[in-house]
Amino acid sequence: MLAFEFDNLFVRELPGEFSGVRKPRAVEGALYSRVDPEAVAHPELLAWSADMAQRLGITDDDVESELFAQVFAGNRLLPGMQPFASNYGGHQFGNWAGQLGDGRAISLGEVVGADGARWELQLKGAGRTPYSRGADGRAVLRSSLREFLCSEAMHYLGVPTTRALSLVATGEGVLRDMFYDGHPELEPGAIVCRVAPSFIRFGHFELPASRDDLPLLRQLLDVVIRRDFPHIQHADTQDRYGAWFRDVAERTALLMAEWMRVGFVHGVMNTDNLSILGLTIDYGPYGWIDDFDPDWTPNTTDRHGRRYRFGHQPQVGFWNLQRLAMAVAPLFDDHEALNDSLRHYADTFQSADRDNAARKLGIGRRDDDDALFRDWLGLLRDAELDMTLAYRALASFGPGDQPEAFLASDTFRAACYSDVRLQSQHAEAIDWLSRYARRIAEDALSAEQRQQHMHAANPCIVPRNYLAQQAIDAAGEGDLSVLHALQRALQTPYEENDLTRPFMARRPDWARDRPGCSMLSCSS
Ligand code: AMP
Ligand code: MG
Repeated sequence: MLAFEFDNLFVRELPGEFSGVRKPRAVEGALYSRVDPEAVAHPELLAWSADMAQRLGITDDDVESELFAQVFAGNRLLPGMQPFASNYGGHQFGNWAGQLGDGRAISLGEVVGADGARWELQLKGAGRTPYSRGADGRAVLRSSLREFLCSEAMHYLGVPTTRALSLVATGEGVLRDMFYDGHPELEPGAIVCRVAPSFIRFGHFELPASRDDLPLLRQLLDVVIRRDFPHIQHADTQDRYGAWFRDVAERTALLMAEWMRVGFVHGVMNTDNLSILGLTIDYGPYGWIDDFDPDWTPNTTDRHGRRYRFGHQPQVGFWNLQRLAMAVAPLFDDHEALNDSLRHYADTFQSADRDNAARKLGIGRRDDDDALFRDWLGLLRDAELDMTLAYRALASFGPGDQPEAFLASDTFRAACYSDVRLQSQHAEAIDWLSRYARRIAEDALSAEQRQQHMHAANPCIVPRNYLAQQAIDAAGEGDLSVLHALQRALQTPYEENDLTRPFMARRPDWARDRPGCSMLSCSS
């Protein structure tokens, strides 16, 4: 029987708003609004995460029951659920946007899982809330499938992230103007149940701060520290707040380093989309690096300013942390604690990024390798090489190998998008490989050990946009096999095996300029 043990600490301990009215409005003095999901026509379970189900203490039979699809489409509530939409603000593309809130996400409650951990269940696309601002509160299949697939993939890549329990089709059409060109079309709707210890964002703190509601800001911070940062135990309030902000800064820095390691571009790093726990959250027009281009952004809305381009993400993380620091500053007696943690962000990122660079190249961390790292990235860009495949190929290059032979090998060729571009960088490539051969010879690792290290830091598959798009196209025709195969393969992203091999290919030419594969709109 499908059941959970709920302990709804957030709604129990913090002020909310209980009118139950969905009408869009400013909600003051409250951190959430009680609101139920809106029922949908024909829920159908399309995919689910067995690992997440197990952590939540539910069985395969529970998941396959009719009740499961009803509950995770928002049609039925289980005992103990107290649905709510939370209230937050945010800086969008650098500008303060005021109140935003969960416009289409509705939290069902906080489960204490089989492993004793706390997991909040949240339906994305569950209907209108007071924060919907005139929009429909729904989500389309293509964006929901992308969130389901990518958030689970991130977990197996070892990158901090919100998880996804289920992907349920609603059986209803949702009207979207995907290209913003005045031609809206009905698309199939779907709902993801996403799961995380906490969905608190930077913007949750910014909103009460912007309204000078310091009592509410303090209440929020105290509960967040107690619930989401239980390891912070300082008796002194100022010490506790200081340790908390330092922790947030550190987690954010580590997250940025991880995104850079795997080639993930979030696409909408507004402060309302940054998790206080340093989790990847709000999968929208995100993208994965195919050919290595630090200036690439997948988000059409970001095409001109490129604020959220791949290579700029660590700086944006810092900018967002500065906004958070300013929001909580009124609670701090001494702002030096905040400044010190901002410096800690920069140091933590730099150190993690260097560690990752060394791990990805299979060399020990040394201070004199910066030029080697920099020139490798330059080569990836200038020779138009596939980031994921180039690192995997490099793992098969040894100190005794001839650079020329390596450049001609099938493994390396699989990472090349353009013969012309590669040819133009031939001399640079030979030079770099010769330096690399000398460098790896200086480490004590055997070829086999080095390859193992490199394979552990460099995935052989990531949920590239074109792969997700193939799963979406097939699902649109009623064929879920592509989604399921991709989902399974992405559970072992560092292993070359029968599941992953079919997806170990660079972006095909047809996907270069196709919507969904190269650029994505925010319409979702
Ligand atoms: P995002 O850019 O997806 O992070 O969303 C920014 C804000 O718009 C958040 O407050 C969302 O809840 C809200 N939002 C996005 N799409 C919808 C929708 N279809 N209906 C209601 N609110 C939405
Ligand atoms: Mg958002």
